[in-house]
Amino acid sequence: MQSQIQINLKKVLDDINAAAVSCGRNISDVSLLAVSKFHPIEAVLEAINAGQTKFGENRVQEATAKFSEVYKSFLNTELHIIGQLQTNKVKKAVEIASMIESVDRIDLLKEIEKQAVKLNKTINVLMELHTGEESKSGFESVEKLYEALEFCKTSKNIIPCGFMTMAPFTEDEVLIHKSFESLRLASEKLQKDFPEFNLKELSMGMSNDYKIAIQEGSTQVRVGTAIFGQRNY
Ligand SMILES: *Cc1c(COP(=O)(O)O)cnc(C)c1O
Repeated sequence: MQSQIQINLKKVLDDINAAAVSCGRNISDVSLLAVSKFHPIEAVLEAINAGQTKFGENRVQEATAKFSEVYKSFLNTELHIIGQLQTNKVKKAVEIASMIESVDRIDLLKEIEKQAVKLNKTINVLMELHTGEESKSGFESVEKLYEALEFCKTSKNIIPCGFMTMAPFTEDEVLIHKSFESLRLASEKLQKDFPEFNLKELSMGMSNDYKIAIQEGSTQVRVGTAIFGQRNY
């Protein structure tokens, strides 16, 4: 029998594919990051058994506890850190993750570079842009993203792969479209000005708005609740 997580996962993947096709995009151009924060390792293993390989976690400590176990049996599992990251957690984050999506300040990039050099590891990053959500996470302007990418030119172990954002928590679809559109427009501009990087990744869209995000060019949606159910904080 299929578990609820497996049923949910299949439905989300079907919906992602349908959303991509309906706006003329390739289904292979949109990937799914399963956000497992606050859910136990058993939930992660169920999703892995259903074929999911990419996971997202907000908190480094929780991520380390789960994924150091998961990696023992599933070597090709990928972990992305997607939550606000304190400087003193960077070392662990670089150790455990293949990508940090929530880069929101230059100092954080400097620390990521420092720790990655120490660990002799290259680390993928996305720059998070604040495009209208209440939590105020992310760089506050496109100008700051220029500074961030200038720093990346000088770094050895950081690979900038694109951008991330969160839409505002609202029912107003026009505002959600605007938020995602502004990230896409920023990324097109930045890609032109930094041809030395491949900045194709646009991480946008969560359980409530991933279809809109796909219409606006998302290359990776981050979905938690629609796969794993409600979180108990
Ligand atoms: C929790 C979280 C998600 C997943 O949100 P759902 O609404 O549960 O799909 C995606 N992105 C970030 C940055 C998050 O913190």
